[in-house]
Amino acid sequence: MAQVAIIIFLLAAVMAPLLALAELPRVEHPPHRYGSLNVLAVGDWGRRGQLNQTLVAKQMGIIGKRMNIDFVVNVGDNFYDNGLTGVDDKAFEESFTNIYTAKSLQKPWYTSNEMLFPSLLNYGFASFLGNHDYRGDALAQLSPVLRQLDRRWICKKSFVVNADVADFIFVDTTPFVLKYWNEPKNNKYDWREVAPRESYIANLLKDIDSALKQSTATWKIVVGHHAIRSVSEHGDTEELIEQLLPILKANEVDLYINGHDHCLEHISSRDSPIQYLTSGGGSKAWRGIFTPNSDKLEFFYDGQGFMSLRLSKAELHLAFYDVDGKVLHKWGHTKPVQYY
Ligand SMILES: [Zn+2]
Repeated sequence: MAQVAIIIFLLAAVMAPLLALAELPRVEHPPHRYGSLNVLAVGDWGRRGQLNQTLVAKQMGIIGKRMNIDFVVNVGDNFYDNGLTGVDDKAFEESFTNIYTAKSLQKPWYTSNEMLFPSLLNYGFASFLGNHDYRGDALAQLSPVLRQLDRRWICKKSFVVNADVADFIFVDTTPFVLKYWNEPKNNKYDWREVAPRESYIANLLKDIDSALKQSTATWKIVVGHHAIRSVSEHGDTEELIEQLLPILKANEVDLYINGHDHCLEHISSRDSPIQYLTSGGGSKAWRGIFTPNSDKLEFFYDGQGFMSLRLSKAELHLAFYDVDGKVLHKWGHTKPVQYY
């Protein structure tokens, strides 16, 4: 009996660190020709084409073709006002499939939430959930049924896309925000597979830290729905500043991309290399709110639009576009190429 107890104890001691180091789901995105990677980022869009969603989609198609993009980073708030009612909600086709119709956008849309299936990568749109998506049937957006309707739709909670020169770490940020739990007002949030909040966040932060430590890509890019830094309506997200940002700084993350505020923003961190980028101009915009914070504002546009990223081993170029496809802001950065 004593021997059995000792064996169980030893097994538990060996297993504990393994269990604590659960990994985020991971997918390999094949490198683009000539070792570059081209993506678009858009958020806060699903309004059945209204409020300029169709115009933004059209310009994404034009710029997407010009850049021959590899995939789309979808930063959340996919279906307004209250996510999807289920997998048979027609809003999926009316706000996604029938809107982003350009040939150049028939690529993966990565939309954070669960496991990815590499075989689907030739078709997808990388997506995850925003706070409005949690107000409906959150699990419906993760369902393989939607992928049968539109093979571009790759929606997970948190995951990593290894894309050769860059690693993208998608983080499910809605559960971090305390007011959704404590003051939901008239909204009902679908916390299935999330609650209890504390352990979900603690495990997620460990997984993000571990994914960043494992990353050997030139560019480390973290994507969340909520801004860490924003000068627009919702402003900074204090929970992310306290809990997520220290991990990003310790791991020398290059970019943090988000939506949630319905505008376009570029803010530089004053004490780290991080660039905070908001691309939440997928439809409704023009909130008319501007509240500066202590980091350096490089660019702010209160209207609709989207963002592009062109990455190679040595260079990063980003640009923001309005509904006419006009470039509003550009920024670039280089790193010495490492040869092994
Ligand atoms: Zn939002």
